[in-house]
Amino acid sequence: MSVTDHVDLERFVAGVHKRNPGQPEYVQAVREVAEDVFDYIADKEQYHEYQILRRIAEPDRVVSFRVCWEDDNGNIRVQRGWRVQNNNAIGPYKGGLRFHPSVTESILKFLAFEQTFKNSLTGLPMGGAKGGANFNPRGKSDHEVMRFCQSFMTELYRHVGADVDVPAGDIGVGPREIGFMFGQYKRITNQFTGVLTGKALEFGGSLIRPEATGYGVVYFLQDMLERRGDTVEGKVAVVSGSGNVALHAAEKLSQLGAKVVTLSDSDGFVHDPSGIDAEKLAWVKALKSNRRGRIAEYVDRFPGATFHAGQRPWAVPCELALPCATQNELTGDDARTLVANGCIAVAEGANMPTDLDGVHVFKDERILFAPGKAANAGGVAVSGLEMSQNSARISWSEEQLRQHLIDIMRGIHERCVAYGAVPGGDGHVDYVRGANIAGFVKVADAMLAFGVV
Ligand code: NDP
Repeated sequence: MSVTDHVDLERFVAGVHKRNPGQPEYVQAVREVAEDVFDYIADKEQYHEYQILRRIAEPDRVVSFRVCWEDDNGNIRVQRGWRVQNNNAIGPYKGGLRFHPSVTESILKFLAFEQTFKNSLTGLPMGGAKGGANFNPRGKSDHEVMRFCQSFMTELYRHVGADVDVPAGDIGVGPREIGFMFGQYKRITNQFTGVLTGKALEFGGSLIRPEATGYGVVYFLQDMLERRGDTVEGKVAVVSGSGNVALHAAEKLSQLGAKVVTLSDSDGFVHDPSGIDAEKLAWVKALKSNRRGRIAEYVDRFPGATFHAGQRPWAVPCELALPCATQNELTGDDARTLVANGCIAVAEGANMPTDLDGVHVFKDERILFAPGKAANAGGVAVSGLEMSQNSARISWSEEQLRQHLIDIMRGIHERCVAYGAVPGGDGHVDYVRGANIAGFVKVADAMLAFGVV
């Protein structure tokens, strides 16, 4: 990047910062994309003339609303809900809903921004959005969660629709919450349409949607390694999180012969040097879904393992690292520790789990680094396929969908290589740059076609 471009980038980021006070995650996500896109568009006048990046970095709309519900003791509780519709240049808005006490407008704006590029990378016609609430499902009864979800949808239904905006799950929103929200949407509108994805099979859900994000991350990791004549087989993998993405990533790694040695939640991580195999994973899945238990309980069941309260797993030596919990869970120092311990590849299951310092470490050290917007796109891709099945009122077989997922992940990998190959870099690919630019170009060209809207 030339000095002039660098000055322009800093001026652009300063503007984003000024227009979005108190929203550090959002500014961080925009900067990460802008660092690559500025360089790419330097000699492409049209994108400047039409202010494409400036427009993508201003959400189409942000809806914020009150969500009142009654707990089991009869207390009235008040939460805040949001839907951020970032960009619908290439298709209806699409992106998950997150229920977690840490949810803020900044976090949802960063997620909606990232989602725009991720959805573009899949090759499917989906715009970018995200939503959620600062509601904590942890410790709540099923009835409390149901009342919250119904109240949330009683406002959200005005802003979504099968051809408008199709939310899905994310942290704290799984099949139970999607069921409650779909039921309420159907009740209010008297319409049975594909307004949400991640539904149960009985009412329009798609096979392999639960597995798609975690499996897709590992398919992408395999594609990166394969380009170097390598494979995940026999390698030690450190995984963070113990939710949908982490458990399915761990499952696929284990099926392909890697040894997964950690899992975590917000209380800490477990380290099992003998490997978390299929049997142990089945136990964790039951712990998390039936009893909504904590990962610390793992060491009572499997005594060879240790629990590390309040810590993240990045100091455990490994060749593969898969952050699958939440944003900014892997810092620059963690990245340096991973590299020093011999880690050769990192694939992000979570959205923006590596902070900017960490991203720069991985880029500078030239290890294989798959950013979330590429590596975890398998989930939204199969959600896109769920939308297609709902529209056509058909269901595809598991085998058809599995092949679609593999092909889509391979297509994303190829697009990243096409835009991210480092000139004179002996075949090295900057996957962050590749994903940012490939994701940007499709959305930007659609926006050019629409003129100034
Ligand atoms: P789940 O709610 O199923 O699991 C989230 C996991 O991350 C839990 O183990 C949770 O622990 C942990 N976690 C959440 N917040 C924190 C925190 N602040 N610190 C430490 N651990 C935390 O969510 P998913 O698996 O669906 O999502 C995980 C990540 O993957 C998110 O970044 C999400 O945006 C991303 N993603 C998810 C997709 C999907 O299809 N589900 C698609 C693409 C991306 P605890 O139980 O203690 O909260």
